Amino acid sequence: METGKYGLPLDVKYCKECTRSNQRPAVTQEFLQNQNQKKKFVIFDEKGLCGGCTYNHIKNNKINWNDREKELLDLCDKFRKNNGEFDVLVPGSGGKDSILVAHQLKNKYKMNPLLCSWSPTMITEIGKKNLKAWIDIGFKIEFNKVNKELHRILTKLSFLNLCHPFQPFIIGQKNFAPKIAQKKNIQLVMFGEHDAEFGSDLERWDKPSMNINRFTHDKIDYNDLFLGGVQLKEILKKYNFTIEDIDDYLPIETEVFNSNKIEFHYYSYYKKWNFHDNYYYAINNSKFTPQKERIQGSYDKYSSMDDKIDYLHFYTYYIKFGMGRATAASEQEIRAGVINRDEGISLVKRFDSEFPSKYYNDFLDYMQINEKEFNEVIDRSRPDHLWEKIGNEWRLKKPIWESD
Ligand SMILES: [Zn+2]
Repeated sequence: METGKYGLPLDVKYCKECTRSNQRPAVTQEFLQNQNQKKKFVIFDEKGLCGGCTYNHIKNNKINWNDREKELLDLCDKFRKNNGEFDVLVPGSGGKDSILVAHQLKNKYKMNPLLCSWSPTMITEIGKKNLKAWIDIGFKIEFNKVNKELHRILTKLSFLNLCHPFQPFIIGQKNFAPKIAQKKNIQLVMFGEHDAEFGSDLERWDKPSMNINRFTHDKIDYNDLFLGGVQLKEILKKYNFTIEDIDDYLPIETEVFNSNKIEFHYYSYYKKWNFHDNYYYAINNSKFTPQKERIQGSYDKYSSMDDKIDYLHFYTYYIKFGMGRATAASEQEIRAGVINRDEGISLVKRFDSEFPSKYYNDFLDYMQINEKEFNEVIDRSRPDHLWEKIGNEWRLKKPIWESD
């Protein structure tokens, strides 16, 4: 297959059932990412369906959800402690999905969950409210205690070098839960969505647990691991941070991890996941609230709204892969049966390209960069096969509304 920037397929195709294109990277080990790395891509099947839609058919036709719930009951019986100690760890941020998982494990399956949360880079007002709504169901929570200046520098480097300002958060969050589970002697960690929901790791759709190489590494070597596209040893040297500071972001050495026998499961393996239903569940069972106005770059009012950096994350994703926030919302709503594909396409046309102006000054202030630097990163990150400049305006060469 012919590939262009980031190793993207040059032939842009759209899924026959949703709004997703084939320009989508698979889940990567973020801490190995540098500027030269070619990404792996999610491939469409012979019917022209993206992985998310392929899995949607499996979910609706092939899985016996009663059997899956029995498996969940067995899993809970295996780990339930009944002695007052925590028996399951639920990572999250107080979004609709983490509210559902924690609430059901506690109330329906009589587990004793501990919550953990990696703090947002720049929390929003609605994010604060919903985090409180999650805890107020009646839980204890562990927060990370990160060196904030290091996090700021890593966010800046990730934006400047990789056009990926969300990377430090993604890495930190991913490696946080295993560390808390170890520290608190909790043998079961329950995540929300299986990667197959997004069409990644599709070959593991019938596996309840996460591939542990997502947060383990054979040997922690400061020469071969990167953050923000920079070698760890460079970061320590140049910015004068310590190993203790940077440890929060690092994976666990495989041998250390294996000695702990912690299991990492996906709730959506056991319970049929419908992100629209999860929203109503959260509304009905906690004080979770949506935004009053629609989210910039999209049309919905209830997804990924706790962190200002999330807005920039979706925008940089749009620049690099040609798909933004309205694509992300609409592909899920199409699979959930809330809207049809044509409605999805008009929403993408209308909102995907919208610039996140609401928090633009916050991004610049936080990363301590100026507008010129910001625009340079954005424009050099656009793949030639996706973008063309007409006059002063950048346009997608093959948007979904112009494709068959
Ligand atoms: Zn699809």
